[in-house]
Amino acid sequence: MRDPLGRNITYLRLSVTELCNLRCRYCMPAEGVEKRRHEDMLTEEETVLAVKAAASLGIEKVRLTGGEPLVKKNILSIAEKVAAVPGIRELCLTTNGIRLPQLAKSLRAAGVRRVNVSLDTLDPAKYAHITRIGDLSDALRGLEAALSAGFEKVKINAVLLGGFNDDEIPALAGLTRRWPVDVRFIELMPMGGDLTQGAFVPGDVVLETLPELEKLPEDGPVARLYTLPGALGQVGIISPLSCQFCDRCDRIRLTADGRIKPCLHQRAEYPLKGLDEAGMRRQFEAAILHKPPWHGELSYAAPSQAGRTMDRIGG
Ligand code: SAM
Ligand code: SF4
Repeated sequence: MRDPLGRNITYLRLSVTELCNLRCRYCMPAEGVEKRRHEDMLTEEETVLAVKAAASLGIEKVRLTGGEPLVKKNILSIAEKVAAVPGIRELCLTTNGIRLPQLAKSLRAAGVRRVNVSLDTLDPAKYAHITRIGDLSDALRGLEAALSAGFEKVKINAVLLGGFNDDEIPALAGLTRRWPVDVRFIELMPMGGDLTQGAFVPGDVVLETLPELEKLPEDGPVARLYTLPGALGQVGIISPLSCQFCDRCDRIRLTADGRIKPCLHQRAEYPLKGLDEAGMRRQFEAAILHKPPWHGELSYAAPSQAGRTMDRIGG
């Protein structure tokens, strides 16, 4: 379905849980999120019904996210059912990778085609710091499990954090020479969390650090794409702040508590909990018809108006 600006909305980012086994400083409070009442969250049946309603309006691609989607007990069953919804052509997953060694093969068999693994640093002490409780070796084992499970594409997402990992841009981009992975650098978005304004660095710092990057003829929907000479994968730069892509936005989000968000950075939500498929379809239609033209001013002086932190939206 097209929104009033003519943008064809084909992509649903589906959060299956607000919970997480890490506590990344830019995403979550130190104490984690308060566990919500079971009855306030979408059930597996409602989640699948919501995807059916969305697919009937032209959603073709679904990304499972969270919180950490792989801490959800029934994630394999959700993946299998979502992949089987008529009209859904592509099921993807964004994960911190910690549980991939146990789950990668089953996720592939359930119908997940592409996986993004979040990895901001290759330094064990820095990884422990930024995730507050994580162990880098678990994330790297997860990445290797993803690479050997036969997914069509594996990408690494690194949030650019000034004074923290900007010195690792060459090492992170260099992973595209070691493995057939794409590495994407993402600008830090002001969503709450305990990082200060000083941590923001614009995506262009990647180009300044790596002048040998060669521009690819075509960009992705949200990423500017490059490659290092001789690399097996691409390097992407995603710049929601310094180089906005709202005019090409093709996505909506559904939170784990069943609220459609037409825009990540705006407060508007369309609840689905308790509705039947027809009611859900009406809410998706309303959300797409009211998708704002852009996410509004976004900077540390004018932080996101999302009304929730990333873990509670589904990044
Ligand atoms: N737990 C999974 C993971 O970390 O990949 C999925 C959910 S997480 C919210 C999805 C993505 O959002 C991650 O790549 C994370 O780095 C990114 N993210 C979280 N907070 C962010 C922020 N304030 N700015 C930019 N990216 C952020
Ligand atoms: Fe958890 Fe992902 Fe947020 Fe990190 S970015 S705290 S792994 S949801």
